[in-house]
Amino acid sequence: MRKNTRRKPSRTLRSRRARALLARLQNGRCAICGDQLGDDWHADHIEPWSVTGRTNVHEMQALCARCNAKKGTTSS
Ligand SMILES: [Zn+2]
Repeated sequence: MRKNTRRKPSRTLRSRRARALLARLQNGRCAICGDQLGDDWHADHIEPWSVTGRTNVHEMQALCARCNAKKGTTSS
């Protein structure tokens, strides 16, 4: 299932399809609080982007705006 496509690394998940896939993987719910995701949810790197240097839907989680704001830009 995993295809190796070489792409320029991008810090954010720009593709609408990738975002839609990510939301679907989590049944449209926030990875932290489990709330239904609104239109303003964020694609968050599970491992900080500064560590992995990758933006891959399988290494990301969908967070509602509230949890994303709580988490901030760095994760510990
Ligand atoms: Zn949440």
